[in-house]
Amino acid sequence: MEDDGLECLSTCDGIYEEHIYRRRCHHQLLLASANKSRVTNVHELLQCPICTNFMYPPINQCLNGHTLCSICKLKVNNCCPTCGEELGYIRCLALEKVAESLLLPCKYGSLGCMEIFPCYRKAKHEAKCNFRPYNCPYPGSECSVVGDIAFLVDHLRDDHKVDMHNECSFDHLYVKSNPRKTENAAKTLMVFNCYGQYFCLHFEAFKLGIAPVYIAFLRFMGNVVEAQTFSYRLEVGAHGRKLIWEGTPRSIRDSHHKVRDSHDGLIIQRNMALFFSSGQRKELKLRVTGRIWKAKST
Ligand SMILES: [Zn+2]
Ligand SMILES: [Zn+2]
Ligand SMILES: [Zn+2]
Ligand SMILES: [Zn+2]
Repeated sequence: MEDDGLECLSTCDGIYEEHIYRRRCHHQLLLASANKSRVTNVHELLQCPICTNFMYPPINQCLNGHTLCSICKLKVNNCCPTCGEELGYIRCLALEKVAESLLLPCKYGSLGCMEIFPCYRKAKHEAKCNFRPYNCPYPGSECSVVGDIAFLVDHLRDDHKVDMHNECSFDHLYVKSNPRKTENAAKTLMVFNCYGQYFCLHFEAFKLGIAPVYIAFLRFMGNVVEAQTFSYRLEVGAHGRKLIWEGTPRSIRDSHHKVRDSHDGLIIQRNMALFFSSGQRKELKLRVTGRIWKAKST
């Protein structure tokens, strides 16, 4: 009987404990949902009713208290989009204080950035965030496609029909008939896949002052720090003359214009290029060779 009693007691205890546990869980659940709705509400309060972006100080309000972000305020002709009342220059200091007190995740969280910031530092970080998507590196007509490297490699191959090479050395003949007429027009891109990375080899004509020249340079498909762990070499020549360039690839974070305009590559004067091309100087036929290697590990 004692055993039964004990058993009963322990069962009762069990039921009692489970009851308490359930109540505690229920209580925590309520607390959690209260916190959640509080967070949601604060975020909703700080969402601009027009552009739905997070409102950073200065936050404006109309005479009736409707709030608006400072960018949208410039667009609504001094008229509250919620009630039509005149907007004037009333700031909502209480909401600004709330905005300042919040820590917000970087908007590239889904791409891997785990950083959180007070609102006034968030935009500055996001402009430089290492996880932000890359712009399409294709030269010429500006392409607005952005994405991670794997996505951009597919995009270059499928949409821009760029040649892909699975090697770390190159030997390419750039041929252009009538080279005197195509200044600034000729822009070529090839992609090299080696060391588990992708590199863009650019070749184009431009004017250095008034002198028509050609430039060849390499860009790394990845961030600036990683780019510096590689080196490359380009050579062009004929008839016992040779130009050699050795450099560090620039990251595709730098636009190809920027790299070209800083002359960070092998520059060939047109006269020299035509001399290297042999023929009757009517056709550009430049053989550019080179390779990529790993300079140092990160
Ligand atoms: Zn807005
Ligand atoms: Zn209003
Ligand atoms: Zn970030
Ligand atoms: Zn593109």
